[in-house]
Amino acid sequence: MTTTSHNVLPEELEDLVALFDVRGTDEPTPDAEREEALASPRFGTVFTDHMARVSWRQEDGWLDRRVEKYGPLQLDPATAVLHYAQEIFEGMKAYKHADGSVWTFRPESNAARFARSAHRLALPALTVDDFIGSIAALVRTDLAWVPDGEDSSLYLRPFMFASEPFLGVRPAAQVEYLCIASPVGPYFAGGVKPVSIWVSQDYHRAGPGGTGDAKCGGNYAASLLPQTEAQQNGCDQVCFLDATTNSYLEELGGMNIFVVMDDGTVHTPELTGSILEGVTRSSILRLVADHGREVVERKIPLEEVVAGLADGSVREIFACGTAAVVTPVGRLAGGTFDHTVADGEPGELTMAVRTELTDIQYGRAQDRHGWMRRLA
Ligand SMILES: *Cc1c(COP(=O)(O)O)cnc(C)c1O
Repeated sequence: MTTTSHNVLPEELEDLVALFDVRGTDEPTPDAEREEALASPRFGTVFTDHMARVSWRQEDGWLDRRVEKYGPLQLDPATAVLHYAQEIFEGMKAYKHADGSVWTFRPESNAARFARSAHRLALPALTVDDFIGSIAALVRTDLAWVPDGEDSSLYLRPFMFASEPFLGVRPAAQVEYLCIASPVGPYFAGGVKPVSIWVSQDYHRAGPGGTGDAKCGGNYAASLLPQTEAQQNGCDQVCFLDATTNSYLEELGGMNIFVVMDDGTVHTPELTGSILEGVTRSSILRLVADHGREVVERKIPLEEVVAGLADGSVREIFACGTAAVVTPVGRLAGGTFDHTVADGEPGELTMAVRTELTDIQYGRAQDRHGWMRRLA
């Protein structure tokens, strides 16, 4: 079983897809209904006709690779994940290019991260081959669901959970892996709009040695109350500080964060084990460095950012992740401070990075780093 990261070559993809038995639904969504759903998709509300699935048994390993009708799962009330949250997920997108071909972005990075998350949650690793094969098999089956509007895509959600009906506390001996897909329109309907961020003083999403660098549902559960607190304070999103000193920026509930200084340098919190390593984050570090800018991964004290916003040395702040790509931050607030960022407008570098990345993803710019993989 290969779990190490490797690139899947186009000629290899056919064999990986062929491992998936396509059991097509006999009740596909009528064309008119699908077209209506594709016209104005709201994030995560509408799903395609099928889902990819692979099961795991401790005795047999991964088996029964298939694409089947999308639908509810029947779970025993004692199913382990419902009690102990042994679950991980990924988030990716399939992009339709002008010639009708469908592509995804750096899937090997997501596959490798999925394997790392699995290790931390004591789940079995899915191979890079099965991860990418499942996505390609699903996208090919539901090709008509890939939207072609501006900034639209098919959001892909691979996930894995402990499906064994057993209340004992140990790694489950039965696991399910699925990938579902949902058409999404532009994250910012009506143009990119800066978000406001509340820096939580009372809660953390992760601590040293915890699961912060694994993409698991439990981290999100821990972020919901502080996210509510942010909204009660009039902000859109919450930003977490490190759990040890409560003084360094870590990230938002589901996005990494960048700070642009007035000397042109770009800073992002270094990966300490409690920050999720975003594929968007690492891509932005590359793109910014390509332009000859100095990029710095380091511990960033909140105090320094607050002072920099007051004296103008912090020029821009943005958040990033697959769903929203790059999101300008227009306001940073907390218990003792409240600052406008970049006059509340999208920053210049923020928007340049956003455009460059989305141009690569949608095939409008040359893919000079070899990040794109054709799925169909
Ligand atoms: C998924 C995620 C991100 C962003 O990762 P991308 O690979 O860029 O989509 C950032 N932080 C958290 C906590 C996440 O779960």
